[in-house]
Amino acid sequence: MSTPTKRPIKRLLIANRGEIAVRIIRAARDLGIETVALYSDADQYSLHVKLADYSVNLPGNTAVDTYLNVPKIIAAIKESKADAVHPGYGFLSENADFADAITNAGAKFVGPSAKAMRLMGDKIEAKRLMKAHKVTCVPGSENPLKDVEDLRRHAQDIGFPMILKASAGGGGRGMRVVRTMDDLAESFAACTREAASYFGNPAVFCERYIENPRHIEVQVLFDEHGNGVHLFERDCSVQRRHQKLIEEAPSLFLNAEQRAEIGGRAVVAAKAAGYSSAGTIEFICESPERVYFMEMNTRIQVEHTVSEEISGIDLVRWQLLVASGEPLPFKQEDIQLRGWAIEARINAEDPAKGFLPSPGRVNQVRFPAGPGVRVDSHLYPGYEIPQFYDSMVAKLIVWGQTREIAMDRMLRALSEFEIDGVPTTAKFHEAVLRNPIFRAGTMNTGFVESQAEYFKKAFSNVPEEHQDHAALLAAILTVEDQKKGAVTATTTSSAAPKSLWRERSRLESTRRGGV
Ligand code: ADP
Ligand code: ADP
Ligand code: MG
Repeated sequence: MSTPTKRPIKRLLIANRGEIAVRIIRAARDLGIETVALYSDADQYSLHVKLADYSVNLPGNTAVDTYLNVPKIIAAIKESKADAVHPGYGFLSENADFADAITNAGAKFVGPSAKAMRLMGDKIEAKRLMKAHKVTCVPGSENPLKDVEDLRRHAQDIGFPMILKASAGGGGRGMRVVRTMDDLAESFAACTREAASYFGNPAVFCERYIENPRHIEVQVLFDEHGNGVHLFERDCSVQRRHQKLIEEAPSLFLNAEQRAEIGGRAVVAAKAAGYSSAGTIEFICESPERVYFMEMNTRIQVEHTVSEEISGIDLVRWQLLVASGEPLPFKQEDIQLRGWAIEARINAEDPAKGFLPSPGRVNQVRFPAGPGVRVDSHLYPGYEIPQFYDSMVAKLIVWGQTREIAMDRMLRALSEFEIDGVPTTAKFHEAVLRNPIFRAGTMNTGFVESQAEYFKKAFSNVPEEHQDHAALLAAILTVEDQKKGAVTATTTSSAAPKSLWRERSRLESTRRGGV
């Protein structure tokens, strides 16, 4: 093994906002690293700006004008004399050209090499590489689809239902389920169009659509000297429109042997890509024996917290140390799985109004605390949630020795959680945590839709003025979108009230925009 070259980071610029910017500042401060916050005009009073040692304004408000604007960010790196950049998640975090631009500006990109990002960021390329390393993938096309004829040929092989996906896609977008030959042409055209406009790359591929699978992903952590470990799996099967709502670690779906097997496969996959830093290998599971590689996320993930809780390893700290050239001091056998962790994404959305986003002023906020409770958030009393970005405002993470204890703790913590001023999804999470299927741990990715009646009942005691919205909630939770074939997260029911958020800006936060 090569002798590690250490390049300690002294001043870290965070090319992100919200809770993840705060999370990164905390890890940096633990290590004695200075921090530089970036902020759009609307984020001037955001917590990450208050906590950082320095801050630089990115004039404007839309994501394109600010957190996706590479020239402005590069100028900020130079102005602040930062020697490293952490991209967080979303925005430019999976953009290899951005990583190159940072390197060219003389700073260190905290993440994998641009080469590994290019390889694994493209879903078609990634699947090809995985196949070459004998990692089982969802059966599907191995190249971008040329035209509808090409797709028709694959449909004959794969059968229905199948899913069309943007090769550069992310954030649950740019996907379409196709159930009949008749729908092929229209779906192909729509998916190609979406891929080009959301992700700047029209390449689309198809794979078998697995009905009601579990989404299980493995956290990996690699240094720049070829050493790597996995930190076990997370179960992210509680989703709405293919976006995660609740995540837990480990997964009740796997036994110890299957856990070691899937973890080993993830390590092989990351090694094959020449990966370094923290990353996630996502699998789609038809049964514990039928586990298929789906994609790799070459960045820190929203739900990295649950892996931290069960392993005791601070992933962001290790991202910073790995980027400084440190070798990992632990091996797979040193990593112990301890207890159970669950994360609930608290969004400024109103579940009783069909998850209508609800930006606005937070008058009061009281976070839960006590044993086994962690809150990652950028909220504070008086904070004004801007309309321009993602609606996630807090992550509530609980830990317990068993799943049972963790679930009860989550309910206790949710009951303590108070945000006055804007409606949030906290009540929705309470309903999930009381749901018999969730309690039994037998949920799959169709859970939320299949429990529409249950949720409707759970919300039937909402205040009078929201009564009509309870029915709307049920309507929105139905599989209407799937029937139409569209599974884009942004499609709202025609009955739904118009979003207060700028849909385009929200999409931009998941876009791997070009440089
Ligand atoms: P992860 O893969 O880390 O679990 P997601 O796939 O849920 O994260 O999201 C990736 C990125 O998409 C994050 O930046 C997140 O903020 C953003 N995102 C998630 N949900 C939405 C949404 N409803 N609207 C806009 N952006 C979203
Ligand atoms: P993204 O890059 O947007 O995260 P993914 O490929 O990871 O896209 O898929 C997101 C979600 O879509 C999965 O968690 C799962 O719920 C669903 N999904 C994706 N591919 C399939 C498939 N082949 N069969 C069934 N569900 C799928
Ligand atoms: Mg994914």
